[in-house]
Order: sequence, then C-alpha cells, then structure tokens
Amino acid sequence: MPRARLRPVACAAALALGLGAFSAVPASADPRHTEKVPTAIGTGGAVSSVDPEATAAGIEVLRKGGNAVDAAVATAAALGVTEPYSAGIGGGGYFLYYDAQSGKVSTIDGRETAPAGMANGAFIDPETGEPYNFTPELVSSGVAVGVPGTLATWQRALDNWGSQNLKQVLRPATKIASRGFAIDETFREQTLDNKERFAAFPATSELFLPGGDAPQVGTIFRNPDLADTYRMLAKQGLDGFYAGDLAAEIAHTVQEPPKSADTGLPVPAGQLSTADLAGYEVVEQEPTQVDYRGYDVFGMAPSSSGGTTIGESLNILGQFDVAAMDEAEALHHYFEATALAYADRGKFVGDPAFADVPTRTLTDKLFGAERACAINPGQAAAKPVAPGDIENYDGQCPAATSEPVEERDTENISTTHLSVVDRWGNVVSYTLTIEQTGGSGMVVPGRGFLLNNELTDFSTVYDPQDPNRIEPGKRPRSSMAPTIVLQDGEPVLAIGSPGGSTIITTVLQTLVNRIDLGMSISEAIAAPRASQRNTAAVTAEPEFIETYGPALEAFGHKLTPAGDSFTPQAEIGAVEAVEIAADGTLTAAAEPTRRGGGSAMVLEPTE
Ligand code: GLU
Repeated sequence: MPRARLRPVACAAALALGLGAFSAVPASADPRHTEKVPTAIGTGGAVSSVDPEATAAGIEVLRKGGNAVDAAVATAAALGVTEPYSAGIGGGGYFLYYDAQSGKVSTIDGRETAPAGMANGAFIDPETGEPYNFTPELVSSGVAVGVPGTLATWQRALDNWGSQNLKQVLRPATKIASRGFAIDETFREQTLDNKERFAAFPATSELFLPGGDAPQVGTIFRNPDLADTYRMLAKQGLDGFYAGDLAAEIAHTVQEPPKSADTGLPVPAGQLSTADLAGYEVVEQEPTQVDYRGYDVFGMAPSSSGGTTIGESLNILGQFDVAAMDEAEALHHYFEATALAYADRGKFVGDPAFADVPTRTLTDKLFGAERACAINPGQAAAKPVAPGDIENYDGQCPAATSEPVEERDTENISTTHLSVVDRWGNVVSYTLTIEQTGGSGMVVPGRGFLLNNELTDFSTVYDPQDPNRIEPGKRPRSSMAPTIVLQDGEPVLAIGSPGGSTIITTVLQTLVNRIDLGMSISEAIAAPRASQRNTAAVTAEPEFIETYGPALEAFGHKLTPAGDSFTPQAEIGAVEAVEIAADGTLTAAAEPTRRGGGSAMVLEPTE
C-alpha cells in the first residue's frame, strides 16, 4: 500500500490564496539574486531560507553535486553575509540531519556556552547589587557573549555527513561578501532599529552605518573583512577561529568592549577567554521524537527546549480530535496545550550537562495524556498554569499540586532558519542565531562579523532550583526548534523558524495547520499566528486578532498584539520549510511576507 504522506492539497486552493508563485532558479545573467519567491516546486533538491542570495548559494552547491549538508553550510555561511544581524560565525545554533542511507535523524548542538570565568551572579550589577536590565545593559555587552559554536557546527556536520570540505562550501558566501549584495528594506530597517547601539561601537558603525546612516535600499553592500575572514577560515579551518589571532581578538572584544568614548551605553565587560574558545565543543545527541497522528516528529533535545516543548504540546493535542473542531475550538486547544508545555519547559528544561532534565518524560505520550486532563474544552485556564508532576504520572487526571511559574515573554524576530533536501533524500533542518537582532552590537574589529549576546537566554537571577541558572561552561536554554517529520521512516517535512520563545509555537502552529487543519505547507506558513507561552495574554498578529479575537475571547483568552521595542513589526516568526511528497516532488516553502519574505528554490522546477 502506498504511504499516505502529508495530506495533498489542491494547487487551485494555493493559487486562489495568491500563494502559488512558483519559481525557477533565477537566471545566472545577474550574479546577484534579489528575486524572492515563497514557493517552489520541483525535483533534484530544494532550499528554503530567508534570503535569495543564501538560498541560491545552497542551490548552486546542490547543482554541482554537493549534498544537503554541504548546501546547508553554504547557505548558512551566505546568511552570515546577507543576514548578519541574525546569524553568523559569532553565534550558535542547532543542526538536525536525516540521513537517507541509514534512515537515522542526528543532531548537532552548536549552542554558545558560558565562559569558564562567568560568575553565577554575572548578570547582577556590582555597583547597585540589582540585576542588569535586558536593555540597555545586557543587550549590548561583553557579559552576554557566549563562546560561539557556529563554525564548529559547520565543521562537524561536514566531517560527519558532508561530501565537500569547508573551503568549498565557504566559496559562494565569500564571493557574496566581496562582490556585495543589494540592500533590501528589511536590512535597512533592522540597521535603523539598532542605530543607537551600533553607533556606540566604531567597528560596528564603520561596517553597518557607513557615513552615519543605514545603507539605502537598493545600494550594494560589501563586507571585505568578512570575505577575508572566510578565506582565512577556508585555509585554517577550526584553528583559524578557536585559536590564534582571531580567538585573541574575540576575547579582547568581550573583555574590553571597543565602545566609543562618547557613548552613554553601559556595555558591561565579559570574561570570555582564549581558553574558552580553545575548549569549545559541539555536542551530538539523540533527537527528541514523538508520534503525532502517524507522523514521527523529530526535534532538538536540550539544551534547546524546542524538541521537548513541541513534543509535549503535540502529545497533549494528540488527545483531541483537532481536525474535527471548528477553528476557534482548535486554536483554544492549541493555546491550552502550549501553556501547559511551557509551564514544564520553565520548570524542568536547561542544559542537561548541568541540570537533570526529564527529556523522556516531557516527550512521553502518557505524560502528555495526563497533562491534557488540565484542558477545559470550553474555558481557558487562568495563566500561568502549574507544571506537571514528572515523578508520578499514569495518564490519569491528577489533582493540581505545584505552583505556577511566571514566564519571560520574548518574541523578537531574530535568528534564522534554513531547510534543505538533496537528490538522494538527505534532509537538513538548521536554525542559527546571534540572539538579539544585531547580537551584542559588537563587531570584532576588522573581521566583519557581530558577536552574539546569547547568554541573555539564561535566567538573570541565580536560583539553585532553576535549571536555566547561570553556570560556567553551561549552554543557556534555547527555544530554537529545527524539526524533521518522517512517516513510515521516510522524510516528509523539514521546518523551523526564528522568533525567540515564539519559535516553538510558530513551528507547532504550522504543523497543526498542515497536519490537522488541511492547509498546504505554504498556507500553513502564511496563516496568521498567535503564541500562548503560559502568560496572562496570548501574543498575536493583528490579522489573527481580527479574524479569531472575538471567538477566542469567548473562551476567556486575552489577545495582545505582537511586537516589542526591538521588533516593532507585529509579526511572529518566519518559517522556512521543504516538504517531500510521496512521489518525491519537493515543495520548498518560505515565509511569504513576514520580515520581508523568504526565498524558496528547487533545482529542477516542475511548475
Ligand atoms: N536566543 C534565542 C533562542 O535560542 C533565539 C534568538 C531569538 O530568536 O530571539 O531561543
């Protein structure tokens, strides 16, 4: 019997919704790729990312015979050039890989780590004894810079599963950095949003604020320093980053932030040392896995909370016939499920090298069944809801015992995700970041890339019970959720998103839209979003509030528009996915509008 695969959706529906702009790979007459197409259908390989230059870099590697891992690293390296405020070698991320030959899903945790010299109270201002604020103290600081893991992730992925070497896969990105790319509105907007803090660092303002202003839309932006850095890394490999001159410069930048004499920004210094860089290791571990309505959903295990929180939510939702519900009812269950899963995320998830994280329990169907008892089908629970009992659960409804935990509610749309499938059926789902849009705001002088401020993902105040408390050498808890879905052992979907702690709900909502609500992958990505992370109000996009607000308020949900001071746009996430149909047809599906829209390409278009 043929496998069902993800439910097929009529193309006519996609076209009616204006989602059917299918692309060929852009002609090579213009070496700069500026055209963005959100959906591409075909064969031979597919790439979906937020940027046309980056997607084209991956496609080029696939065209020349590279595999999905080679193409993913080439795409990521290009994103380091064209999306320098979201990703780059100054940050970290999580790499999920399905190997067609072995049928196995593997992961690389390339998350940034706390320096060995980072004190438990590093986020407490020594002058006042009070915790630093996120803005302005922590966001632009040395103290929030973690040891970057991105280059080590690329090297490990290539060593394990690649067919090309670092030198080969860095080539397209090096070319983009030196010949330049066209500035779009999103780049200019993100630069302007960061203008004040970028201006505080001469190396950053020289690069990103030439002449004191953000580069104009349509102008060509070159980053020769980054091209040189990539060339050096192509020759020297990991040692070029984790040892030698560059390592010393990174440590110096963190320990003595190179701020201008006249800035009013505090910029607390950090402890990151050359020894921290020399000692950095990626971690390979089993993915999380849950079965949802016949689909095997693989995710990233802690130190990210992505896999456990999506997995638990799916296990909760699996207790209900969501497909049979009307939209408001389905969304009510989605909100209630994520609130419960976030309660458990907050209480139990941190870096498993330092905290006893119950990953198995959190992704156990029985635990999900027990948590589902807390959902009243007609009424929203008061938030925050309490975490579950991980010691004693049997799938039966318990009496609530523990205290609710208040969640920190972050939603900035930094970070970036890319999905790749090659002609052999290998699949990559890779989310990478430098944390805040613009990271720490500090470019390593003369090197062309920003350092992360990832350690802001730790809890600010030290609490010995908190699995996400600061500890030297530890990875802060992430929400990044690169996901690969299999059915009957065959891959059907690679998906992920940026968006701080909304990453989890964005990926989950898109899966529910696709699996339960009958949307095509492009429709599922485009649909208006909302995110309930165990807080009093649900954060939602304006279109979501307009469409579903009254019906959901009748359940007792409060909806509030998305957006914060760093991301004034009221948008949640930017999904980049590739779907594989039963006949092998690939649908690369990128975000159509949010964050300026993404770029989907296939090697051999069929539509
Ligand atoms: N630091 C965030 C995380 O790892 C990602 C950055 C963001 O998207 O805001 O969850």
